[in-house]
Amino acid sequence: MFEYKHIDSGGKDIELPVGKVVCVGRNYLQHVKELENEVPSEPLLFNKPSTALTPLHKPVVLPKKSGPCHNELEVAILIKTTLCQASIQSVEAAIWGVGLGLDLTLRDVQSTLKKQGHPWERAKAFDRSCPMSQFVIKDQVEKLSNIGFSLSVNNEIRQQGNSQDMLFPILKLLVDMSNTFTLLPGDIVMTGTPKGVAALSVDDQLTIELNGHFSVRTCVA
Ligand code: ZN
Repeated sequence: MFEYKHIDSGGKDIELPVGKVVCVGRNYLQHVKELENEVPSEPLLFNKPSTALTPLHKPVVLPKKSGPCHNELEVAILIKTTLCQASIQSVEAAIWGVGLGLDLTLRDVQSTLKKQGHPWERAKAFDRSCPMSQFVIKDQVEKLSNIGFSLSVNNEIRQQGNSQDMLFPILKLLVDMSNTFTLLPGDIVMTGTPKGVAALSVDDQLTIELNGHFSVRTCVA
Protein backbone atom coordinates (compact mmCIF):
# COMPACT_ATOMS: atom_id res chain seq x y z
CA MET A 1 0.00 0.00 0.00
CA PHE A 2 1.31 3.47 -0.84
CA GLU A 3 1.66 5.42 2.40
CA TYR A 4 4.42 7.96 1.83
CA LYS A 5 4.25 11.67 2.69
CA HIS A 6 7.08 14.16 3.07
CA ILE A 7 7.64 14.89 6.77
CA ASP A 8 9.75 17.48 8.60
CA SER A 9 12.17 16.86 11.49
CA GLY A 10 9.30 17.20 13.95
CA GLY A 11 7.35 14.45 12.17
CA LYS A 12 4.77 16.88 10.74
CA ASP A 13 3.54 16.62 7.14
CA ILE A 14 5.18 19.02 4.69
CA GLU A 15 2.65 20.75 2.45
CA LEU A 16 4.14 19.61 -0.84
CA PRO A 17 2.84 16.96 -3.24
CA VAL A 18 4.71 13.67 -3.63
CA GLY A 19 6.47 13.64 -7.00
CA LYS A 20 9.19 11.86 -8.88
CA VAL A 21 12.66 11.03 -7.60
CA VAL A 22 15.55 12.06 -9.84
CA CYS A 23 18.77 10.17 -9.10
CA VAL A 24 22.40 10.33 -10.08
CA GLY A 25 24.69 7.33 -10.36
CA ARG A 26 28.48 7.31 -9.85
CA ASN A 27 28.79 10.62 -8.01
CA TYR A 28 31.50 9.55 -5.52
CA LEU A 29 34.88 8.41 -6.83
CA GLN A 30 35.39 5.64 -4.25
CA HIS A 31 32.01 4.12 -5.16
CA VAL A 32 32.76 4.33 -8.90
CA LYS A 33 35.93 2.34 -8.15
CA GLU A 34 34.30 -0.30 -5.93
CA LEU A 35 31.94 -1.26 -8.77
CA GLU A 36 34.70 -0.87 -11.38
CA ASN A 37 32.72 1.65 -13.41
CA GLU A 38 34.08 4.51 -15.50
CA VAL A 39 34.22 8.01 -14.06
CA PRO A 40 31.40 9.92 -15.79
CA SER A 41 32.06 13.13 -17.71
CA GLU A 42 28.52 14.34 -17.02
CA PRO A 43 26.01 13.20 -14.36
CA LEU A 44 24.49 9.75 -15.04
CA LEU A 45 20.79 10.39 -14.41
CA PHE A 46 17.84 8.08 -13.85
CA ASN A 47 14.38 8.39 -12.28
CA LYS A 48 12.36 6.50 -9.74
CA PRO A 49 8.56 6.98 -9.84
CA SER A 50 6.73 8.36 -6.78
CA THR A 51 5.55 4.80 -6.03
CA ALA A 52 9.16 3.94 -5.10
CA LEU A 53 8.87 6.16 -2.00
CA THR A 54 8.17 4.68 1.42
CA PRO A 55 8.81 6.02 4.95
CA LEU A 56 12.31 5.09 6.18
CA HIS A 57 11.16 4.53 9.76
CA LYS A 58 8.90 1.67 8.61
CA PRO A 59 10.61 -1.71 7.96
CA VAL A 60 12.56 -1.77 4.68
CA VAL A 61 10.90 -4.45 2.55
CA LEU A 62 13.18 -6.30 0.11
CA PRO A 63 11.94 -7.98 -3.07
CA LYS A 64 12.37 -11.68 -2.31
CA LYS A 65 13.05 -13.41 -5.63
CA SER A 66 15.39 -11.05 -7.47
CA GLY A 67 18.81 -11.72 -5.94
CA PRO A 68 20.84 -9.42 -3.69
CA CYS A 69 19.40 -6.00 -2.81
CA HIS A 70 22.10 -3.44 -1.98
CA ASN A 71 22.01 -0.43 0.31
CA GLU A 72 22.92 2.91 -1.28
CA LEU A 73 22.52 5.68 1.29
CA GLU A 74 22.28 9.11 -0.31
CA VAL A 75 21.66 12.75 0.58
CA ALA A 76 18.14 13.61 -0.61
CA ILE A 77 17.05 17.13 -1.58
CA LEU A 78 13.36 18.09 -1.39
CA ILE A 79 12.36 20.65 -4.03
CA LYS A 80 9.82 23.37 -3.16
CA THR A 81 9.61 25.49 -6.32
CA THR A 82 9.80 24.63 -10.02
CA LEU A 83 13.24 24.39 -11.61
CA CYS A 84 13.31 24.38 -15.40
CA GLN A 85 16.60 25.12 -17.17
CA ALA A 86 17.69 26.78 -13.98
CA SER A 87 20.81 28.87 -13.43
CA ILE A 88 23.30 28.17 -10.65
CA GLN A 89 22.18 31.40 -8.92
CA SER A 90 18.54 30.32 -8.73
CA VAL A 91 18.72 26.70 -7.57
CA GLU A 92 19.46 27.13 -3.88
CA ALA A 93 16.23 29.07 -3.26
CA ALA A 94 14.23 26.16 -4.71
CA ILE A 95 15.36 23.71 -2.00
CA TRP A 96 12.94 22.97 0.85
CA GLY A 97 15.37 20.86 2.80
CA VAL A 98 17.75 17.95 3.16
CA GLY A 99 17.14 14.34 4.16
CA LEU A 100 18.52 10.87 3.51
CA GLY A 101 17.17 8.19 1.23
CA LEU A 102 18.09 4.63 0.34
CA ASP A 103 18.44 3.94 -3.37
CA LEU A 104 17.75 0.20 -3.03
CA THR A 105 19.32 -1.65 -5.93
CA LEU A 106 18.88 -5.24 -7.13
CA ARG A 107 22.53 -5.63 -8.05
CA ASP A 108 22.37 -8.84 -10.12
CA VAL A 109 19.34 -7.57 -12.04
CA GLN A 110 21.21 -4.31 -12.68
CA SER A 111 24.34 -6.15 -13.90
CA THR A 112 22.28 -8.16 -16.38
CA LEU A 113 20.50 -5.02 -17.63
CA LYS A 114 23.83 -3.17 -17.95
CA LYS A 115 25.31 -6.00 -20.05
CA GLN A 116 22.25 -5.95 -22.29
CA GLY A 117 22.40 -2.17 -22.61
CA HIS A 118 18.90 -1.93 -21.15
CA PRO A 119 17.42 0.69 -18.79
CA TRP A 120 17.79 0.12 -15.01
CA GLU A 121 14.18 0.49 -13.84
CA ARG A 122 13.67 -3.19 -12.97
CA ALA A 123 16.70 -2.96 -10.67
CA LYS A 124 16.07 0.46 -9.14
CA ALA A 125 12.51 1.72 -9.62
CA PHE A 126 10.40 -1.05 -8.09
CA ASP A 127 7.78 -0.39 -5.40
CA ARG A 128 9.38 0.78 -2.10
CA SER A 129 12.85 0.98 -3.67
CA CYS A 130 13.31 4.43 -2.10
CA PRO A 131 12.87 4.50 1.71
CA MET A 132 12.99 8.21 2.63
CA SER A 133 13.73 10.02 5.91
CA GLN A 134 12.31 13.23 7.32
CA PHE A 135 13.67 16.49 5.89
CA VAL A 136 15.62 19.16 7.77
CA ILE A 137 14.68 22.63 6.56
CA LYS A 138 17.50 24.10 4.47
CA ASP A 139 18.18 27.09 6.75
CA GLN A 140 19.24 24.64 9.47
CA VAL A 141 21.80 22.96 7.20
CA GLU A 142 24.96 24.96 7.51
CA LYS A 143 26.58 24.12 4.17
CA LEU A 144 25.25 21.99 1.31
CA SER A 145 28.88 21.26 0.45
CA ASN A 146 29.60 19.71 3.87
CA ILE A 147 26.83 17.26 4.77
CA GLY A 148 28.04 14.21 6.65
CA PHE A 149 25.98 11.02 6.86
CA SER A 150 26.30 7.34 7.70
CA LEU A 151 24.64 3.95 7.62
CA SER A 152 25.28 1.29 10.26
CA VAL A 153 24.09 -2.26 9.75
CA ASN A 154 23.81 -4.33 12.96
CA ASN A 155 25.89 -1.66 14.77
CA GLU A 156 28.75 -1.72 12.27
CA ILE A 157 29.43 1.29 10.06
CA ARG A 158 28.87 0.28 6.44
CA GLN A 159 28.70 3.63 4.64
CA GLN A 160 30.08 6.99 5.65
CA GLY A 161 29.89 9.92 3.29
CA ASN A 162 30.18 13.66 2.98
CA SER A 163 28.73 15.82 0.23
CA GLN A 164 32.15 17.48 -0.14
CA ASP A 165 33.30 14.32 -1.98
CA MET A 166 30.66 14.50 -4.71
CA LEU A 167 32.00 14.58 -8.28
CA PHE A 168 29.05 16.82 -9.20
CA PRO A 169 28.06 18.97 -6.19
CA ILE A 170 24.42 19.50 -5.24
CA LEU A 171 23.78 22.90 -6.84
CA LYS A 172 25.48 21.92 -10.11
CA LEU A 173 23.50 18.68 -10.16
CA LEU A 174 20.20 20.55 -9.83
CA VAL A 175 21.18 22.82 -12.73
CA ASP A 176 22.13 19.84 -14.87
CA MET A 177 18.99 17.86 -14.03
CA SER A 178 16.70 20.84 -14.62
CA ASN A 179 18.04 21.05 -18.16
CA THR A 180 16.59 17.60 -18.86
CA PHE A 181 13.73 17.09 -16.39
CA THR A 182 11.77 20.00 -14.97
CA LEU A 183 11.90 19.60 -11.20
CA LEU A 184 8.50 20.30 -9.66
CA PRO A 185 7.53 21.20 -6.07
CA GLY A 186 7.59 17.94 -4.10
CA ASP A 187 10.13 16.18 -6.30
CA ILE A 188 13.17 14.68 -4.59
CA VAL A 189 16.73 14.61 -5.91
CA MET A 190 19.00 11.75 -4.80
CA THR A 191 22.64 12.75 -5.03
CA GLY A 192 24.56 9.46 -5.31
CA THR A 193 26.06 6.97 -2.90
CA PRO A 194 29.51 6.78 -1.31
CA LYS A 195 31.37 3.46 -1.15
CA GLY A 196 30.15 0.62 1.02
CA VAL A 197 27.29 -0.82 -1.01
CA ALA A 198 26.48 -4.42 -0.03
CA ALA A 199 23.55 -6.79 0.24
CA LEU A 200 20.94 -6.28 2.96
CA SER A 201 19.41 -9.27 4.75
CA VAL A 202 16.08 -9.82 6.47
CA ASP A 203 16.25 -8.77 10.15
CA ASP A 204 19.24 -6.44 9.63
CA GLN A 205 19.03 -3.48 12.03
CA LEU A 206 19.84 -0.17 10.32
CA THR A 207 20.86 3.15 11.85
CA ILE A 208 20.88 6.03 9.41
CA GLU A 209 22.31 9.33 10.54
CA LEU A 210 22.47 12.85 9.15
CA ASN A 211 25.33 14.27 11.22
CA GLY A 212 24.18 16.93 13.66
CA HIS A 213 20.53 16.53 12.71
CA PHE A 214 18.87 13.14 13.12
CA SER A 215 19.31 9.42 13.48
CA VAL A 216 16.69 6.92 12.26
CA ARG A 217 16.60 3.31 13.37
CA THR A 218 14.81 0.84 11.15
CA CYS A 219 15.01 -2.82 10.19
CA VAL A 220 14.89 -4.98 7.08
CA ALA A 221 11.82 -7.16 6.49
ZN1 ZN B 1 22.31 5.40 -6.05
